[in-house]
Amino acid sequence: MLTSLVQAVYLLAAVLFILSLAGLSRPESARRGNVLGMVGMVLALAATVVLSLQNSERSVVVTLLLIALVFAIGAGAGIWRARSVEMTQMPEMIAILHSFVGLAAVLVGFNSYFTEPAEAVHQVEVYLGVLIGAVTFTGSIVAYLKLSAKISSAPLMLPGRNMLNLGALVASAGLMAWFIADNAAAPLIAMTVVALALGWHLVASIGGGDMPVVVSMLNSYSGWAAAAAGFMLSNDLLIITGALVGSSGAILSYIMCKAMNRSFISVILGGFGVDTGTVVAPAADQGEHREVTAAEVAEMLVQARSVVITPGYGMAVAKAQYPVADLTARLRAQGIQVRFGVHPVAGRLPGHMNVLLAEAKVPYDIVLEMDEINDDLAETDVVLVIGANDTVNPAALEDPGSPIAGMPVLEVWKAHQVVVFKRSMATGYAGVQNPLFFRENTAMLFGDAKQRVDDILAALTTQAAEAVHAG
Ligand code: NDP
Repeated sequence: MLTSLVQAVYLLAAVLFILSLAGLSRPESARRGNVLGMVGMVLALAATVVLSLQNSERSVVVTLLLIALVFAIGAGAGIWRARSVEMTQMPEMIAILHSFVGLAAVLVGFNSYFTEPAEAVHQVEVYLGVLIGAVTFTGSIVAYLKLSAKISSAPLMLPGRNMLNLGALVASAGLMAWFIADNAAAPLIAMTVVALALGWHLVASIGGGDMPVVVSMLNSYSGWAAAAAGFMLSNDLLIITGALVGSSGAILSYIMCKAMNRSFISVILGGFGVDTGTVVAPAADQGEHREVTAAEVAEMLVQARSVVITPGYGMAVAKAQYPVADLTARLRAQGIQVRFGVHPVAGRLPGHMNVLLAEAKVPYDIVLEMDEINDDLAETDVVLVIGANDTVNPAALEDPGSPIAGMPVLEVWKAHQVVVFKRSMATGYAGVQNPLFFRENTAMLFGDAKQRVDDILAALTTQAAEAVHAG
């Protein structure tokens, strides 16, 4: 009776998770999607606690105390991190959270191996669970280290690295046959070591520019690791949830690959087929760049009929989305058309810019995707590039030797005037020089993006006051 009730609650939670994913696919319904996901998770946790109490060999009080202790540690750490994390640190936090899922799958696998009777199907579940979990664990740690700039984001180019990956897969297959035949701990432990090294190597070999795909790919792996844990624990909800995360992560990786014009297979195999990887191109002599002041940009904006803003990672660092939203409202109130062009890999997280703009209450209908805005850029008077760099780099289209060659970009240089907000002439995430900065119709507005947008707002106020005075 109780078990059927728990199963029914699990089913309800699974439906809520699917509805949650559907909600999260659009900004307008994302809040509802989050709430549905939270309700589903509360139901799932409650049902799992009931199930654990029923199955536990200990007394109800001891089991409840153990669960409460684990909850308190997990929730305490989670709430503390969620409150303290900066929006710019979200990608690395997500990467480290994926590593926990991988580690959990490894631990569940070993626990299951030592406590459950040997049986071929179960052995395969344990083996695959530990394999996927171990790859996810170390892969996510390397992603965390790269995203937080604790290690270089350049690809690790070991000689014969494709053979190393292939060797690791062949060794894992051989060890699996041994494990199923003997049910011995040695092949399981040996495979764990190989898989830990494989996860590390796969992500270490992926160059800076391909990191968006790595993040979504590890998201997918963590889903499959959770699904494998679900099989080992005979928990249907964990299998469903893991499969949802695994497949949505795979779809997202595919979308990111398309956005960057990269082959999905080559990226998931750790840069397979790429001989040189993403290396920093030597800064060729690009010529002179031109600088403008905030007051000049304000003047340019009030003269414009159409303005497009292309935000990037620097907007997140500077937290410039709030003054940018104010500037947008101000210009729109004067009858100037203002729209946003968002590149699929802008920032450090899929959807990063959309989240920031939504947070600052920029209306959704003026936030367009790259494909929707690119054709309009030639007729745009002013483009404001706020903290974006790689995603507006013409070298991606014009220089076949560039490490980001072939990646579709926002073609901002086609507009009449371009203003680039950044602090220096430094390169972006991919470490590639940007010829946009040296174009004739480009001007640089140096400084912290938030500070500079605030300066433009102040200049607009002064101009308006002067106009009233003169009038
Ligand atoms: P980039 O990383 O190419 O460039 C950001 C620019 O912002 C820098 O050149 C920097 O220049 C400037 N900047 C930094 N801080 C500030 C500040 N406070 N004020 C003003 N400017 C600032 O950004 P993009 O968004 O164009 O491109 C994203 C890159 O990140 C791509 O290469 C993508 O592949 C990669 N990536 C994306 C992920 C995703 O999922 N979206 C995940 C991982 C990587 P300066 O230092 O001179 O100020």
